[in-house]
Amino acid sequence: MATADIRLVPCRSDNYAVLVHDSETGTTLLVDAPEVAPIAAVLDETGWSLDHILITHHHPDHVAGIGELKARNGAVVTGPKQEASRIDGLDELLDDGASATMGPWAVRAIATPGHTAGPLSYWFPDLGIAFTGDTLFAMGCGRLFEGDAATMWASLKTLRQVLPDDTRIYCGHEYTLKNAEFSIGVDPENEVLKARVADVKAKRARGEPTVPSTMAEEKATNPFLRADDPALAAAIGLEGAAPEEVFAELRARRDVA
Ligand SMILES: [Zn+2]
Repeated sequence: MATADIRLVPCRSDNYAVLVHDSETGTTLLVDAPEVAPIAAVLDETGWSLDHILITHHHPDHVAGIGELKARNGAVVTGPKQEASRIDGLDELLDDGASATMGPWAVRAIATPGHTAGPLSYWFPDLGIAFTGDTLFAMGCGRLFEGDAATMWASLKTLRQVLPDDTRIYCGHEYTLKNAEFSIGVDPENEVLKARVADVKAKRARGEPTVPSTMAEEKATNPFLRADDPALAAAIGLEGAAPEEVFAELRARRDVA
């Protein structure tokens, strides 16, 4: 598997941007641009020149820094075709299933609507990493601003099916502690989840990030990826219900948690 220097960059109150650098070719890629200063600080410190900016969705806390960061080194900005009219500064557009090459890396775009109408998740198979924006969070999923529960459930099932278990998942926010508390509430007997909740609490107490996680961890502990698990349905009083219904109930409870 190829390697890269990957820097998680905390931005704003709880956003993450990610810088990916290849020392052989000198290629540097940024995923999402929540704000300029913390990202510019890493670029200044490392001397990396930004070649590519990849955008997951149109929300201001993911795109606010595009203009200024693009102007630094003339980076090419790539984003979701379905949200092109809502994002300033895009140079290249990707649609569901499209592949692109960025420096030494291949990237595959996966449409994951639900949080917004046309967001993309990005999978770098050679690096074993994926960027899921505000769709799949560590032990959670994004709020349904522009899609319904069935749409988001379908998106999460796609990620569950496509991404290998050892894929490291970089999501757009540090919401993990809150998600952990919610998850253990609906799935209290899950031993893997119990261990993960303890790990997350310890990490946050030390001020460490909980991102990335792995797809295997998410499959085992994220209730939003398990809406079709009969045991989870039963645990929330929806025995025999359709996965979309279970998912909708989980999301509704999380909205008020
Ligand atoms: Zn968002």
